[in-house]
Amino acid sequence: MKGLIVEPSRLHQAILTSIFDNSEMAAKVVESAAEAKAAIDSGEYCFICTAFKLPDGSGAELASYVREQNLSDIKVVMLTSEESREKLIDAVSAGVSEVLFRSSPIEIENYIREFIRDYRERHGHRWNVLYIEDNLAIAIVVRAIIERMGAEVVHCASGEEACKLVEQQDYDAVVADVILEGQMSGVDVVRHIRQLKGKIARVPILMLSGQENISRRIELLQIGANDYVAKPVVDEELVARLTNLITQKRLFDKVEMQQEKLQNLAMTDQLTTLYNRHFLAEVAPKRIREAQRHQQDLSLIVADIDHFKSINDNHGHETGDAVLKAVALVLKDNCRREDMAIRLGGEEFILLLPHCNEKGAQEKAEMLRKEVEKLNPSGLAITISFGVTTSSNGANIGFSDLFACADKAVYEAKEAGRNRVVYKDLSSMEDDLSSSEDT
Ligand code: GH3
Ligand code: MG
Ligand code: MG
Ligand code: MG
Repeated sequence: MKGLIVEPSRLHQAILTSIFDNSEMAAKVVESAAEAKAAIDSGEYCFICTAFKLPDGSGAELASYVREQNLSDIKVVMLTSEESREKLIDAVSAGVSEVLFRSSPIEIENYIREFIRDYRERHGHRWNVLYIEDNLAIAIVVRAIIERMGAEVVHCASGEEACKLVEQQDYDAVVADVILEGQMSGVDVVRHIRQLKGKIARVPILMLSGQENISRRIELLQIGANDYVAKPVVDEELVARLTNLITQKRLFDKVEMQQEKLQNLAMTDQLTTLYNRHFLAEVAPKRIREAQRHQQDLSLIVADIDHFKSINDNHGHETGDAVLKAVALVLKDNCRREDMAIRLGGEEFILLLPHCNEKGAQEKAEMLRKEVEKLNPSGLAITISFGVTTSSNGANIGFSDLFACADKAVYEAKEAGRNRVVYKDLSSMEDDLSSSEDT
């Protein structure tokens, strides 16, 4: 299962490649619609992630190309940052399966993971086993046993090759002989896998050991093998032990995925899909500590919609909700990858901006203020007030002090007539600040 990234910008190519890596889908990058069409024709790709604008066409045109070929099984996802609603609707009618926002890498990653899960279910995913054995006669016999379990087997004869293969795709299990050709033994392979980063380090490993020596077997388990089968291999024993290992891994993966989903749900505001205050409580102190450790700037913007109560009162709660969603989208859409947009509650939002100085934060708030002014959600003219503050060069300041300062700034913006940005220097708060112990 492979993905195709169609993206002219080098920066976004790099970001998307890392998102695909995180989602564990191998992906090829192309830059133009022409290259993308050639890749689609090869039939290798089942997931296409395309930019809105391409040098020789558009993401929407690419989607209709896929649909014209009757490739109903291919998912086409379009990434956008600022395109108008009409354009997005056009894209969906052209055959784009989903429009995702660049500003939400987590959402993109989750979407890909969800797709992989569905795809595997639809295509009856077979177990993938990496088998390392240097004796070809034995390899033929054991391979056949594993294949009879319904698994797909990738065989190699040396530990060196196994170490390369294991990083190229996700295996459900590794079956390894202890003594191998080349410099590395099966034991070295186990050690190597266990020190890798990410999920692959947890792949179940079954050793095939010719040695009856019990202390040797204990040693195998101690270095991280999950189980062993003595050679010559008894069919039923190998099948039973390997099935157990793979079933356990599958269960573990499932639980982990559900936990991740729950975690995301708990950290997300349902109405706006921005992060919520649980996320803020978890992540803000970390970002602040990082800024302090590396002596970096960090800015905080507090935003509060003006006279929001009167929107509810005059147009109803549903219209109020639609306004909240529209404003949230503006905030989210204008975030860089490392920025965080959070709904604090009601009509109040926070933007936490790592590596952003005083000037940058004020400019950003001013840009957002203008965007909201232009927005006219549900045909209503709305405005928003911003309070901005910055902790410069990793100043020793806690989140609550930073927030108190930006919140005071919003209050001043309201007092001064609303629809404006007020910057407040942390030094102006000296009498009010608590201490920085809450980081
Ligand atoms: P100001 O310009 O001073 O900020 O005035 P305001 O009316 O925006 O501020 P106030 O804090 O008085 O009112 C906020 C309102 O937001 C009151 C509350 O009913 C409404 N609200 C809070 N949460 C939600 C929500 O989830 N949906 C809707 N529709 N309204 C909400
Ligand atoms: Mg208010
Ligand atoms: Mg308000
Ligand atoms: Mg308010």
